[in-house]
Amino acid sequence: MAINLDISEAPIRESRLGAITGYSGTLKDLVARTGCGATIKNCERTFSQTSSCSSGCAQTLLANIADAAIVNHAPIGCAGDTVYHNIANHYGRFYRELGNRNIQLINTNMEESDTVFGGNEKLRDGILEAWRRFSPKAIFVTTSCASGIIGDDIKGVISELGDDVPVPVIPVSCEGFRSKVWASGFDAAFHAVLTGIVKPPRQKQPNLVNMVNFRGSARDYVRRLFGEIGLEPRFIVPFATVEELETISEAAVTATVCTTLGSYIGTALEEQYGVPYVKTIPPHGFVGIEAWLRGIGAAVGKQADVEQLIERERAATSADLEEIRRRLKGKRAVLGMGPSYAQSYLGVLDELGIEVLHAASWHYDQQYDYGEQPPAILRAASREKDISFSVGDQQLYEIGNTLSRLKPDIYFSRHPGSSVWAAKLGITAVPVIDEYTAFGHHGLVNFGWRIIDAVTNRNFVNRLAGWVKLPYSSWWYEQDPYSFLERGEV
Ligand code: SF4
Repeated sequence: MAINLDISEAPIRESRLGAITGYSGTLKDLVARTGCGATIKNCERTFSQTSSCSSGCAQTLLANIADAAIVNHAPIGCAGDTVYHNIANHYGRFYRELGNRNIQLINTNMEESDTVFGGNEKLRDGILEAWRRFSPKAIFVTTSCASGIIGDDIKGVISELGDDVPVPVIPVSCEGFRSKVWASGFDAAFHAVLTGIVKPPRQKQPNLVNMVNFRGSARDYVRRLFGEIGLEPRFIVPFATVEELETISEAAVTATVCTTLGSYIGTALEEQYGVPYVKTIPPHGFVGIEAWLRGIGAAVGKQADVEQLIERERAATSADLEEIRRRLKGKRAVLGMGPSYAQSYLGVLDELGIEVLHAASWHYDQQYDYGEQPPAILRAASREKDISFSVGDQQLYEIGNTLSRLKPDIYFSRHPGSSVWAAKLGITAVPVIDEYTAFGHHGLVNFGWRIIDAVTNRNFVNRLAGWVKLPYSSWWYEQDPYSFLERGEV
């Protein structure tokens, strides 16, 4: 089996999937050098800007489980992302009519003395306080560089608690220093859910689809699509309850909106409980949603229903798409996103008639947990035209330089912290923050109209660029954007 649920922590993506964070070349070159059992060596950087860490990724999933709590065993600075997680929590709870409350998270506030004398006491107090304050159905203990480096005995502390905390208390190994690939934190969170929460199936639920996603904004749209073929989605893991997570082993199929996110849990559920995992390209754009729905249909024996659904959805949106393509003709773009979205959006922008000059992927998995190359990059590489492609953990100095050289009409990014640099350069920036942007036929045309709005009204970026002084000197703009990447041996 590819995924071992008998060990206490998920191996990091570098060792499990051959993930890299440093590459510069072309899309076809990258695919050719990582296919058929070949592997490519990561190129290190001699200069690096700050980036994200696994701990934030683990907590972005776990902090929004409806009735769980988190004890973040870390210095207070590691909990900085909590503000963002809490905003997402408030939005999510509001739209689901769950009532207004903050996320249930305690940080143990490790200080210098704890790194000398150990932080076990603080951890124990933190878990007891989380139980006293929130009465959660489960407690996740997320680790940090500090608690990992000094070797605090997380499992020992948990086992000593015994009946004092009568719910599962589950360690989540997401120390930032373990992996340069922040998505390793997703796997750490899923490993904790799979080993500490999920139970073997009591009774299979033939219509239930595990829908692995982040915030689940398009729930009504997904429910309608699934409902038309007799299926019902369960959105996991944010905003699911612990009880719902216990039974995901009973689902008929697991699907995901993001293949970077879904690879670990989808493969584990397939291997461990026989729940098929849909391994198609992500459901963005006409091509993506059709492949994805066909994958779901094949897994549950509803192929004919899926074909009829696709026909109806296409008929309702094709005329719009044609008009959008006419209006976006000649537009050129750069995109910078996590790997699943970077690869998927190469297809999306192709469908919208936008030419991509360069794609930057925040990391690259040479294969997924089920042992195959990501299908979306294979699709992109099968096109006749090659494009320039880079891999970097959101190194914004590289993106800024690339944008200033290529001067695209539009910059697409999943992360607003990256989009803002394009806007400051006077380039129209379209952040794709919502994971369901361009989801399905209707999502693609909505996205197309949004892009037309953005390129039509450039007042904001024009003004911003006129006022902002960027920190980079002409010396940097004259360098190759990837000149700090060691590209000797591959
Ligand atoms: S876990 Fe490590 S990398 Fe992550 S925020 Fe804390 S100190 Fe930084």
